[in-house]
Amino acid sequence: MHEMRYEAPGTLEAAVSLLASASGQARVLAGGTDLLIQMRGGRVEPELLVDIKGIPEMTSIAAQSGVYRFGAAVPCMALVEDKAFGKAWPGVADGANLIGSIQVRGRATVGGNLCNASPAADTVPAMIAAGATASVVGPNGRREVPVEDIATGPGKTSLAKGEIVASFVLPRRPPRSGDAYLRFIPRTEMDIAVVGAGVNLTLDEAGVCTQARVSIGAVAERALLVHEAGAALIGTKIDADALKRMAAAVSAACRPIDDKRGTKVYRIKVAGVMARRAAEIALERARRTN
Ligand SMILES: Cc1cc2nc3c(=O)[nH]c(=O)nc-3n(C[C@H](O)[C@H](O)[C@H](O)COP(=O)(O)OP(=O)(O)OC[C@H]3O[C@@H](n4cnc5c(N)ncnc54)[C@H](O)[C@@H]3O)c2cc1C
Repeated sequence: MHEMRYEAPGTLEAAVSLLASASGQARVLAGGTDLLIQMRGGRVEPELLVDIKGIPEMTSIAAQSGVYRFGAAVPCMALVEDKAFGKAWPGVADGANLIGSIQVRGRATVGGNLCNASPAADTVPAMIAAGATASVVGPNGRREVPVEDIATGPGKTSLAKGEIVASFVLPRRPPRSGDAYLRFIPRTEMDIAVVGAGVNLTLDEAGVCTQARVSIGAVAERALLVHEAGAALIGTKIDADALKRMAAAVSAACRPIDDKRGTKVYRIKVAGVMARRAAEIALERARRTN
């Protein structure tokens, strides 16, 4: 029978050291809502599991001078229930609130959602649109990595052996900013996104868009930051024409697969629609923070 060692270190340094010195397959265990299912299915057979939920830096949410830092092992439900966080970053909270059921959200983490590297992960486009940075700690120290550079393809990340995503940083929000995340699923809940879209934008006092980031999920091998889509909104009052150009840029960036849940043509079309709707919500939220 396959033997497995379970460790629950109290510090990040100890977790990194365990992972870096493992001779066989080693895995970080956060909420386990992806990993345990993969282990049960025999897709992953780690010799070492390093449980990170007892590490303080990884389980806290803090705001300082408008900059949010939250641990990669914070359960999605804790983010959803943090009212101040939801007010500052409603789109990121939307993404966290869509994962599974209440029970799943009580365990599932944003770090696990990102590092599992599913192209359909719901928190990832919202985090990318927000301009979030992952603080990655490993045997060679700490590095700050834009969230869009962590997943490289289905089940694959840019993390080196022994590296852990410790926490996330969300930048200070200028006034008149808003974000939103929407996904399309054929059912009402407990399904994987056929398309996901996150939009984050800032307006000036005249209502002109000065900053915009648009990210899409489930339409490529990983969530994408679509620079052209953000650029289509900047310098406009986000009128119907700007939204149309933004949606066209989103559709042009899609390179989806055909599967039983949606054809390529369908996903490309729906991506533009979801991005437009997310932009309209983000706009409304930005106007409300006046
Ligand atoms: C019933 C059900 C419904 C679901 N619904 C959704 C949904 O609607 N949307 C969605 O996006 N997902 C959904 N999921 C998938 C899953 O819940 C999420 O991806 C979740 O966020 C994973 O987080 P976790 O903490 O459980 O990760 P884990 O399972 O603990 O880890 C996932 C992977 O990431 C690695 N990892 C975890 N944390 C780190 C870290 N900090 N640094 C480096 N590597 C790390 C692990 O080693 C593992 O390979 C669902 C799952 C279930 C069981």
